[in-house]
Amino acid sequence: MIIGSVFTFAIILGLLGAIAEIIRQQMLPPEQKYNGPRPPKIDVDDTVVDAKTLGATPIEVERILRKRFPYYNSLNTFQQVRFVARTVRFIQHKLFIIKSSEGFREMPVLASAAAIQLTFGLDDYLLPWFRYIQIYPQEFVSHHSLRIIVGNVSNHTITIAWNHLLKGYEDGDDGSNVALHEMSHALYFQKLEVEKLDALTFCNLYHELIAHCKLPYQFEMSGKTGLYTDYGCSNMQEFWAESIELFFEKSIELRRAYPKLYAALVALLNQDPTTKEKVMSESLVVLWHQFLGMIWRWQRKLRGYEVTPDVGW
Ligand SMILES: [Zn+2]
Repeated sequence: MIIGSVFTFAIILGLLGAIAEIIRQQMLPPEQKYNGPRPPKIDVDDTVVDAKTLGATPIEVERILRKRFPYYNSLNTFQQVRFVARTVRFIQHKLFIIKSSEGFREMPVLASAAAIQLTFGLDDYLLPWFRYIQIYPQEFVSHHSLRIIVGNVSNHTITIAWNHLLKGYEDGDDGSNVALHEMSHALYFQKLEVEKLDALTFCNLYHELIAHCKLPYQFEMSGKTGLYTDYGCSNMQEFWAESIELFFEKSIELRRAYPKLYAALVALLNQDPTTKEKVMSESLVVLWHQFLGMIWRWQRKLRGYEVTPDVGW
């Protein structure tokens, strides 16, 4: 009898403790809600947002993508539904640190959309190693090299300069896109360094790609085609990142100059930007999610909705 009462009391106490912890977690500022890896240094003037404070609803994300993201507008309706769903989910897994006292909702949305564009043909797209996305209004000084840079990937953080991110998508065919560049470094690290054995297919396809990069790398070092920049030819990791920029922004030129390299990129990312369909082969799970998304979209169209005005937070 006494043992039973003590047991019940312990359960009630445990439940109360759990409820108190949930309430405490909810009241914490976004940067303290994460139990994961340590965030980069957060300054007093920084704006820190998560999915909740950002208000990144599918409707809002879709509005921003339609306005600012050419890749999204080039997709068919089914794929657009998937793109929005993936972007929202990506945002829900990240904490965004804007290096300014004010920011715009477009900043986290477009940075996330770049990751979704890169991984659109893959089943995994969350880049879970990278919990933090840091956005500077413009070029910034690297803590490592003390040079002025426009983006980098370090520890658990992807950092991008906002003015260059915007320019990357405004000039969609100049072969330069800092957001895609940094996301490709992050994708490499996630798959080749963090997941390794869990991402065997990706790793094998990546090694095949690198094998096809060797001759073009030598060729570009001598400055023959001028497709790649000097920085892109500084090492194979930068060559990979610039190949991704060219893959999306100068697809035809890259395919013409280096067909094997281009084909290896198509195989690795399971997408071809020169085709209308983009993604090469769709898995059944992805198609099912897309079908559910279409139902959501039709429902919303039937009900009608108000477009949220362009505001910061
Ligand atoms: Zn780089």
